Amino acid sequence: SNEQITCDGCGVTIQTTNPDDLGYAPASALEKEIVVCKRCFRLKHYNEVQDVALTDDDFLKILNTVGDTESLIVKIVDIFDFNGSWLPGLHRFAGKNPVLLIGNKSDLLPKSVKREKLIHWMRYEASQLGLKPVDVLLISASQGKAVRDAADAIEHYRNGKDAYVVGCTNVGKSTFINRIIKEITGEGDIITTSHFPGTTLDMIEIPLSDGHVLVDTPGIINHHQMAHFVDKEELKVLLPKKEIKPKVFQLNEGQTLFFGGLARFDYISGGRRSFICHLSNDIDIHRTKIDKADELYENHAGELLKPAGKGGKALEFVRQEWTIKEAKTDIVFSGLGWITVNESGSKVAAYVPKGAAVTLRKSLI
Ligand code: GDP
Repeated sequence: SNEQITCDGCGVTIQTTNPDDLGYAPASALEKEIVVCKRCFRLKHYNEVQDVALTDDDFLKILNTVGDTESLIVKIVDIFDFNGSWLPGLHRFAGKNPVLLIGNKSDLLPKSVKREKLIHWMRYEASQLGLKPVDVLLISASQGKAVRDAADAIEHYRNGKDAYVVGCTNVGKSTFINRIIKEITGEGDIITTSHFPGTTLDMIEIPLSDGHVLVDTPGIINHHQMAHFVDKEELKVLLPKKEIKPKVFQLNEGQTLFFGGLARFDYISGGRRSFICHLSNDIDIHRTKIDKADELYENHAGELLKPAGKGGKALEFVRQEWTIKEAKTDIVFSGLGWITVNESGSKVAAYVPKGAAVTLRKSLI
């Protein structure tokens, strides 16, 4: 029949085609008397939350709703994709509400990276982007590192009010929330869901000691993230799982490095120099000459230079050029990693897919 089936948990219309979209349930679930979507199923049986994709409209509604509350906003970013995982505009909606900024995936940083420098950089970048967080923390949700500190900070800064956790997809928000659920509620089944006003999206409420709640908002898809330029199967190459191993390249003037088929770095002038690449260990770095780079990319994107765009196609690159003014500068390819340049004076260019971010910062090492 054409009758729409709705989830017994959250009321969303059930669909069986796209596992990542709202309301998904496997076809087999429709034969059951009571149908629940995958998200509610996981929540009910495993006390685990999961991300759903979100439209820009729903995103705005969520920000508006959160902005209208009196609460603490906990914003999670991926330190490996700071710009890509930043939710632009949040500071305008936060209003007077304090924002606690949490950088996740600290386990990926090589030992040589100074944590204080990264926290300092996050604070600086946040202010450049219009946000003045009450505090900045660095955690590893998957390893459970500093998650207790984050829970304490939330308790401290929420000041007897509710707290809303926001973040875009893949920052590790679910991993973080699931840890927090275990810390706060143990195995207890006292989590509730409720609707975001004006949307079909639900939020998950974790009860806190004083009658207030920690609210998990749906994950937001940020289309500028490198992760959305590649096929799903390639994500595992892109998202580093282990501590990054820096790779040093001695380059001559006129040489190019390709990072898979996702980005390109040209060393234009400055004599023979070393460049230290901090990328996911699974991304192949391919060296060639600037003269040959365009042709190589055109002919070999998706093969020799992979991953490239969806279906192995070449991506449309945007080029930026700099003369590095300060010794110890990082060129940050948002979503991929960064190159550390130790000496000043070299002339370089970076190519990233149109929409992705590439920025300079003082080296973290
Ligand atoms: P969400 O989309 O924000 O809810 O993110 P998930 O919790 O689903 O995590 C996205 C990806 O990042 C998964 O592959 C996780 O295994 C990984 N991840 C989450 N937290 C961490 C972390 O602290 N360190 C590392 N290295 N990976 C993490």
